[in-house]
Amino acid sequence: MRICVLGGGVVGVASAYYLAREGHSVTLLEAREGLALETSLANGAQLSYSYVAPLADPAVLPKLPGWLLNRDSPLRFVPSLDPHQWRWCLAFLRACRSDVARAVTAELLGLGYHSRALVHDLVTREKLDFDYQRNGKLVVYRDPAAFAGARRQLDYQAGLGSSQQALDGAACVALEPVLAQLGDRLAGGIHTPSEDAGDCHAFSTKLAELTGQRYGARFHCGERVTGLRREGRAVVAVRTEGGEIEADAFVIAAGMGSVPLLAQLGLRLPMYPLTGYSLTAPVVSGRHRPPGISITDLHHKVVYARLGQRLRIAGMVDLAGRHPRADRRRIALLARQARETFPDSADFDAATAWCGSRPATPDSKPLIGATPYANLWLNTGHGALGFTLACGSAALLADAIAGRPAPLDAAAFALAR
Ligand SMILES: Cc1cc2nc3c(=O)[nH]c(=O)nc-3n(C[C@H](O)[C@H](O)[C@H](O)COP(=O)(O)OP(=O)(O)OC[C@H]3O[C@@H](n4cnc5c(N)ncnc54)[C@H](O)[C@@H]3O)c2cc1C
Repeated sequence: MRICVLGGGVVGVASAYYLAREGHSVTLLEAREGLALETSLANGAQLSYSYVAPLADPAVLPKLPGWLLNRDSPLRFVPSLDPHQWRWCLAFLRACRSDVARAVTAELLGLGYHSRALVHDLVTREKLDFDYQRNGKLVVYRDPAAFAGARRQLDYQAGLGSSQQALDGAACVALEPVLAQLGDRLAGGIHTPSEDAGDCHAFSTKLAELTGQRYGARFHCGERVTGLRREGRAVVAVRTEGGEIEADAFVIAAGMGSVPLLAQLGLRLPMYPLTGYSLTAPVVSGRHRPPGISITDLHHKVVYARLGQRLRIAGMVDLAGRHPRADRRRIALLARQARETFPDSADFDAATAWCGSRPATPDSKPLIGATPYANLWLNTGHGALGFTLACGSAALLADAIAGRPAPLDAAAFALAR
């Protein structure tokens, strides 16, 4: 079948890979001059298959005033008159129920484990070089009450197959000596040995290269899709500035760009951008002491990942409008927090700053599978977990297109759920 994938971020590229590997003739169209230059460019680098609990949780409700009033809060809400923002916020608040949060955690864990198996298979099979490390993840807590909450989540997830350990402060330092710098501010941590890390941009571009060479897929950058031509309940072609491109099936994997594309067909995707920031700082051997395993400092909600001779630091969740711009104050805050937490870990003066927008649904679940149009498929809305879930989501999509039963409950990720 001729399949046209719209969007060349990590999710679109992974979709192209799994579809081309099955023998489909795949063409991917990407608006930017290269692949993975939007949200997949410089994210937190975590393949955190077991840290998938949704943002919408009853525990966030008492924190809402702080998000509104404190400009330095890790999560920040800047209200606007945009009805999309208010619609998304209302749906988010409706999802802040413990029964919903638990069900979503279980569904996302299923997709996370599926992704983990596929990433491990892909790394062995295709030998991609993307600063991949199977080094585990340690989430550290400074507040004993937050640590106690994390232990309860650990118990819940243990029943769903997660293998994690709660460590006291001394055990955290034994595992990752640079944490000694936190001293008595360290309440404890949750260690997940089976988490990975890697460079999402390198993963996407190398996977695309391989998919082209080995499976014949075509990747066209600089091709913005401006519209979809339909006949009845099917899409027959997409429009670009260069003309129309016909195919037998179309996959929308355009991150936040999916929303206006689907709106033209009268479909409303429940997605809103959650802006975040990252810094990438060089590590000089012998001079710097970066963490060896991936660390999340939950107090600041900042992640640290070693990528070869670089340290990636990422954080912040800003609900700040549909077309947010890099906020220099937030970047400075991230840099200050990183310097305070791990002062000798990298050359912060030489760090590169980046801002990206997570394409987020209110309940944190991606939208994967069919649409009301017979040959139009979705793979979008991955929020804070697009790198982690890209392989599982793409394989789930390939199952749906082939009409095969999926290894997990695919209905959980359907558009109408
Ligand atoms: C600060 C930050 C840290 C993060 N950390 C992590 C992490 O550690 N682990 C993790 O798993 N996830 C993380 N994420 C989330 C992750 O980066 C995203 O979920 C993921 O990149 C989304 O991928 P995507 O392919 O759906 O979207 P994108 O990467 O945005 O790709 C969509 C592509 O579609 C193209 N496009 C849009 N409209 C059109 C059109 N009309 N025609 C053609 N092309 C179009 C765009 O140019 C873009 O290249 C983080 C995000 C941020 C912001």
